[in-house]
Amino acid sequence: MIEPASSEHNSLPVSDRRWAWLEIDLEAIRQNLRRFRRIVGPDVMIMAVVKADGYGHGAAEVARTALNSGAKMLGVSNIDEGIALRESGIVAPVLVLAEPPISTVEALVRYHLIPTVYSMEFALAYGEASSAADQIGPYHLKVDTGMNRVGIHYSDAGDFLRTLDFHKGLQLQGVFTHFATADEADTIEFTQQYDRFHEALDNIRYMGIKPGIVHAANTAAAIRYRNSHFHMVRIGIGMYGLHPSNLTKQVLTLQPAMSLHARINFVKPVPMGEGVSYGLRYRSPGNVLIGTLPLGYADGIARELSGRIQILYQGQRLQQVGTICMDMMMFEADQRPLLKRTPVKPQVGEEVVIVGKSGDEEISLDEIAALLGTINYDVACRFGMRLDRVYHD
Ligand SMILES: *Cc1c(COP(=O)(O)O)cnc(C)c1O
Repeated sequence: MIEPASSEHNSLPVSDRRWAWLEIDLEAIRQNLRRFRRIVGPDVMIMAVVKADGYGHGAAEVARTALNSGAKMLGVSNIDEGIALRESGIVAPVLVLAEPPISTVEALVRYHLIPTVYSMEFALAYGEASSAADQIGPYHLKVDTGMNRVGIHYSDAGDFLRTLDFHKGLQLQGVFTHFATADEADTIEFTQQYDRFHEALDNIRYMGIKPGIVHAANTAAAIRYRNSHFHMVRIGIGMYGLHPSNLTKQVLTLQPAMSLHARINFVKPVPMGEGVSYGLRYRSPGNVLIGTLPLGYADGIARELSGRIQILYQGQRLQQVGTICMDMMMFEADQRPLLKRTPVKPQVGEEVVIVGKSGDEEISLDEIAALLGTINYDVACRFGMRLDRVYHD
């Protein structure tokens, strides 16, 4: 077990400071990357996407693990995330996946962060800042092929690059696009984006410009579309052991890296008819023990999940009851012997699992995402907000 030096004033291990914590299995991340290596073959580069603090898993630790497993580049969404990686000692190439504000160009140069580019104003400012520092600023051009989020329109990519080609302070290092429907059953829209990307690449080459590292695939595309691999794939969710959709589950087994644990910090019997938590929405049916856990919606356990999730205690599912508070939530251990097994009697200090495995039972991020009507990406990011992490090497 490796403990992050997150808190200099407190030498207690994470799980003793607060009885709620995330565990991150770095071996799972290594194993998932080996599976992607098998899919893309030896010659395609892997970018490890560690934006949003590594989808809640901790960007620096995930980045180091991924780089040691052969990833060649890191992807972040803004320059603060890039600077955080640099300050943790990471020197590998970092691509900022969207064009940052023009005001960041000096910082990009100083921290050797590679920007995504799709506006002329930004490109020129970045080129100037690079020249002023006696450097040649590498950048990747983002081509919009149909997601209509950001990027230069696919039919304008060649002209855009020709206009910038003269610039002594700029060097085109790559050209990429992003798919809107790589995780969906229908393939028509995907194919249209794919064809438009080829059209852009043809135009760029026709102008006599070398596109450099060509990349397009996220996790879903990397798994489902071999022709989308080009020179590099950008792997986010799959590296963390989560599937972008049910379609990829049939193709590949992944190992979730994140699990969520807590220790019971209070237990008492609550008499029949007494309410529990804000609004007293849950009423004791009698003969139950109510356990309290020290985590709540500020830790990413969305309040809408109140009364709808379960937790794992010694391999058994117990119902969460009552409104989920900001920092606490309660669960019920039914003491009635009408259930076939002997009732469990949870004790203060014992561990429960909120996401992950206990005995033969498992609660997945997908299960929680489905209850919320969202996706596993969203839930993992929420858990990363306040909970400390314990890393297993
Ligand atoms: C987040 C992101 C990815 C990674 O997507 P996953 O579905 O998590 O693999 C790839 N490319 C871009 C541009 C992204 O923003």
